Amino acid sequence: GKRNNKNSIQFYSQSMRDSSHQLIQLEHELRLAIKNNEFELFLQPIVDLAKNNITKAEALIRWNHPKKGMISPDKFIPVAEKSDLIIALGEWVIQRACQMVKKLAKLGYNIKISMNLSSAQVTDNNLFSYLHACVKNYKIDPCLLEVEVTEGVLVDDYSVANKLLSKVRTIGMSVSVDDFGTGYSSLSYLKQLPLDFLKIDRSFINDIVTDDNDKAIVKAVIALAHNLNLCVIAEGVETQEQLSFLTDNACNSVQGYLFSRPVQFNAFVELLKKHPHT
Ligand code: C2E
Ligand code: CA
Ligand code: CA
Ligand code: CA
Repeated sequence: GKRNNKNSIQFYSQSMRDSSHQLIQLEHELRLAIKNNEFELFLQPIVDLAKNNITKAEALIRWNHPKKGMISPDKFIPVAEKSDLIIALGEWVIQRACQMVKKLAKLGYNIKISMNLSSAQVTDNNLFSYLHACVKNYKIDPCLLEVEVTEGVLVDDYSVANKLLSKVRTIGMSVSVDDFGTGYSSLSYLKQLPLDFLKIDRSFINDIVTDDNDKAIVKAVIALAHNLNLCVIAEGVETQEQLSFLTDNACNSVQGYLFSRPVQFNAFVELLKKHPHT
C-alpha cells in the first residue's frame, strides 16, 4: 500500500545517501593513499609463443591499504575515473613502469611493460608530454613501453585517441587494443587507428576448448588481426588445452594464470630467471 511505497522511497533515498557518502569517503581515502604511496604495480608475464619466452609484462595496479589489505583495481579505478584522481594515479603508474623497465634492463632483461590507459588519460592534453618526459628522465628505450586502450575508448574518443596514439608510436612505443570483442562496436576503427596488438578478451578464451562458437570467433579474430598486420595476445589463458588451441591457431602471445598471476617486481624477476631468455 501507500505506506510501504513511502517507506521504500525513504529507504531508497537513504541508501543513495549512503552510497554517495561511501563514494566520497573512498575518494578521500584514495587521495590520501596517493600521498602515502600505498599503491603497488604488479607485473603479469606475457609469453611470446614463437620465441617461447617472456617478452612483455602487463602492469596492473593494486592498493595496499593499511587496514583492508590488498585491494583490486576493479574496486577503486572506477572511483578514480569519476574524479581527477585517475590522472595522478595514471602518472604514478607511468613513473613506476619506467622505473621497472630501467631496473629490468640493468639486470640484463629487455622486457617491455604495457600500461592500461583510462579514457580521461587518453583525452588528457598533458599525457604525451608526461610519457615523453618520463622516458627521457629514466633514459629508457621507448620500445620497451606500451599502452593498452580499450575498444570502447578508441571508438568513443576516436579523434583524440588517434592523435595521441600516433604520437606515442612516433617515439617508438607500441599500442594494444584491450578487451577486444567486448565493446559491441564497429570494426572500422581497427584499420584507421595506429595499432600494434589486439588483446582478445578472456571471456572468449574461457570456454575455447568446449564451445564451438568461441573457437570460431577466436580463429576469425586471429585471421582478422593478421590481415590488418596486428599481433594477437590471448588473455586469461588458464589451461594447457587452451594454450594448445591458441598455438595451433597461430596466436602470437598469451597471458594468464597458466604462466603466472600478476606478481610483485621481485617475484617477476624470479620468473625471468627460470625461463630461457634471449
Ligand atoms: P585488464 O586490463 O583486462 O587486466 C587483465 C585482468 O585479468 C587483471 O585483473 C588480471 O589479473 C586478470 N587476469 C589475468 N590472467 C587471468 C586469468 O588467467 N584468469 C583470470 N580469471 N583473470 C586473469 P586485475 O589486475 O584485477 O585488473 C582489473 C582491471 O583493472 C584491468 O583489466 C584494468 O581494466 C584495470 N586496471 C588495472 N591496473 C590499471 C591501471 O594501472 N590503470 C588503469 N587505468 N586501469 C587498470
Ligand atoms: Ca589491460
Ligand atoms: Ca584486458
Ligand atoms: Ca578488463
